[in-house]
Amino acid sequence: MSKVVERFLKYVKYHTTSDENSNTFPSTEGQLIFARELAKELKELGLSEVEVDENGYVTALLPANTDKKIPTIGFIAHMDTSPDMCGKDVKPQIIENYDGNDIVLNKEKGIILSTSEFPELKNYIGKTLITTDGTTLLGADDKAGIAEIITAIEYLINHPEIEHGNVKIAFTPDEEIGRGVDKFNVKKFACDFAYTVDGGELGTIEYENFNAASAKIKIHGRNVHPGTAKGKMKNSILIGIELQNMLPELERPEHTEGYQGFYHLNNFQGTVEETSMYYIIRDFDKQAFSDKKEYIKSIVEALNKKYGEGTVELELKDQYYNMREVIEKHMHIVETAMEAMRSLGIEPKVVPIRGGTDGARLSFMGLPTPNLFTGGHNFHGKYEFIPIHAMEKAVEVIVKIVELYGKKG
Ligand SMILES: [Zn+2]
Repeated sequence: MSKVVERFLKYVKYHTTSDENSNTFPSTEGQLIFARELAKELKELGLSEVEVDENGYVTALLPANTDKKIPTIGFIAHMDTSPDMCGKDVKPQIIENYDGNDIVLNKEKGIILSTSEFPELKNYIGKTLITTDGTTLLGADDKAGIAEIITAIEYLINHPEIEHGNVKIAFTPDEEIGRGVDKFNVKKFACDFAYTVDGGELGTIEYENFNAASAKIKIHGRNVHPGTAKGKMKNSILIGIELQNMLPELERPEHTEGYQGFYHLNNFQGTVEETSMYYIIRDFDKQAFSDKKEYIKSIVEALNKKYGEGTVELELKDQYYNMREVIEKHMHIVETAMEAMRSLGIEPKVVPIRGGTDGARLSFMGLPTPNLFTGGHNFHGKYEFIPIHAMEKAVEVIVKIVELYGKKG
């Protein structure tokens, strides 16, 4: 069994589900236990400056083996798994020489990974897959990333003939609950740029994500006995419905994909007297993003004109931005990753992230960080699986990126 698979199978046994209701950092004790194990392994490999800091971040350095001037590259993966699905007692199953048929994950419970629901399975006929037993997620998101980074670093240690600059690694907690970089010390990490290894299928590379804002709306009505309400009642629920109907019908999550943005009504609660609505607003394009925010403002203004000043209150808040804006100034980071893939016979696929990532936040914190594939599919649920050749390719891509920058130095 290859080293990366061996590591992966070991890491998925650690229970590292994060918990958004926790006030501690990291949010769960299991992540700290895993962090300490990883640090131990990195020390045994001979890495320098291995540390688990007080917030559970694991960092280490593979020192440069040449005097050439080469940028310091970081590789980052997260240790937690999604709270959407149980991540305890993961029992991975290895499907060798996959035959292209439905995979029975759990006979007893009748849980099947079916090719009609997941036609991408057909791309893996003859390959070896790692699946769940149908009762938990797998944790390829992102323990595959961790296994791939460590295995690539080990390869570099064993192949000193590959010249390289400083390579740093970081394993972060609580990515799945949106806190992954809250306490990340970019300055101390001291990299020129980094890659998160946290993406999906073989060959994907991501450096664009949504611009994101939230809109909290409060509508004040006037309740009067319905029998004597004529000309007096102001029903805040109906004003809320009116507001929603003024938004473009096709710009909703259920009608959009690819680079299309949307308004998403996430929560709507009301009485005649008072109604609250919560929207998220998303768009890749900065102008379109700002137009969307302006549009919702203009609707609120129009409703206030109609129903009286102060009827509708709007609180708009930016959440995160498209990292493309930062990465574009350093396109060599993406281009070198693509060059690395092509030289290994992998066709790079640029995919826009219809959400946010830690890399996006890091990019705006001064560390440009696109996202590389891990090879996994169907993250956050029981149908998660990963083909082992994709993990092996991810290792090669990481090594190749380091090698290419070593040559450019
Ligand atoms: Zn992830």
